[in-house]
Amino acid sequence: MRQLSKPFYNPPEGKKMKGSLPKPARSGRKKEFERPDTKGIELCSRCYAAFYRKRWNASLDVIKEIPSNISIRYTLCPACRQAADKLFEGEVVISGIAEKLFNEVLQRIKNIAKARTLKNPMARIIQLESDPKAGTIRILLSENQLARIIGRKVKEAFGGKMDIALSKEESTIRVRLDLSK
Ligand SMILES: [Zn+2]
Repeated sequence: MRQLSKPFYNPPEGKKMKGSLPKPARSGRKKEFERPDTKGIELCSRCYAAFYRKRWNASLDVIKEIPSNISIRYTLCPACRQAADKLFEGEVVISGIAEKLFNEVLQRIKNIAKARTLKNPMARIIQLESDPKAGTIRILLSENQLARIIGRKVKEAFGGKMDIALSKEESTIRVRLDLSK
């Protein structure tokens, strides 16, 4: 596992996260997950996402017509396992955010992520750090596609200069968006 010897982004002093820094996920990491039980229901003990008929659902409530005698097994869903292992697949760093726009940008990011999570419960924000004074927001995501979506949509709404870096050895995307440019 490649560790970030130098963090891609240094949180300002006093804002450092406790414990080790999240790391990019390796390619093929998802193959290491146990095969879920396709006959019964796998229920995530952390977020209550439910695996049924070959797909993850946000909760048991959204599954229609569950047979009454079905087996339910507790597990950790891939996104929660990733978060627990401090792994991420997408990173977005937005800088140069004007103070008066800060909350709007932050809210926009949360809404974009929320909409994506509704479609794919395994795509979500793992960690979000924001610093209004420095004008920066850093988001770590369980899915690289979500990093692209956030970058594109925030750029559409607020402009700025975007760079996307792909890593082959890690299945990770890093998006940087500078709103001051
Ligand atoms: Zn979960």
